[in-house]
Amino acid sequence: MRAIKFKGGYDRNLSYILFDEKTKKAVVIDPFKEIGIYLEKAKELNLEITGILNTHEHRDHVVGNSFFEKKGFEIIKPKKNFIAVGNSKIRIIKTPGHTPNSVCFLENGKVFTGDTLFAKRVGIVRTIETTRELYGSLKKLKKLPNKTLVYPGHEYEIEIPTTIGKEKKQNPYLKCGNFKEFDALISKWRDYANKRYFARRLKWLKYRYINGLFSS
Ligand SMILES: [Zn+2]
Repeated sequence: MRAIKFKGGYDRNLSYILFDEKTKKAVVIDPFKEIGIYLEKAKELNLEITGILNTHEHRDHVVGNSFFEKKGFEIIKPKKNFIAVGNSKIRIIKTPGHTPNSVCFLENGKVFTGDTLFAKRVGIVRTIETTRELYGSLKKLKKLPNKTLVYPGHEYEIEIPTTIGKEKKQNPYLKCGNFKEFDALISKWRDYANKRYFARRLKWLKYRYINGLFSS
């Protein structure tokens, strides 16, 4: 299959069209709300979009779903280990951590990692339990061949795709030899995420208090 990258969204998000070159059947991964960009590209390349896939349920990764649904496209809920698209098969790898239902999509030397693995970074986690889950999920990804192309859900400093081999060398989180090292490295990230989360909660509680939303 061939991948086409789209950049946009709220935070240098990436979404993709992945299509089977022979049958021209395609899926869109983590669509933005401006779904015209995919429809135009599909028209240009004579592709038939057969469904929408999401790496996880965070808003910036599913924001385009409802726009596609309104036009009659199917949101594919990956229940099995494989999804068939034309003559190709996309393998679902369960990668909990960033969210409990996070998945990666693997197809012939390409892996779409959502917010599980980025170039030089990994997705944010907020608890020790989810840190442990993420560690296990990254272990699965590390087992893929080095030349596997990595297509994450965001493009921060580095041009995407990267590869599993490159990330094993340049990604400090993948270089950790054991969970203790990984947890030590990630705890700074986690503290930051928690502070941000509690600041938001506090703001919301204050808002409710000021607006009398606690009185019945
Ligand atoms: Zn996310």
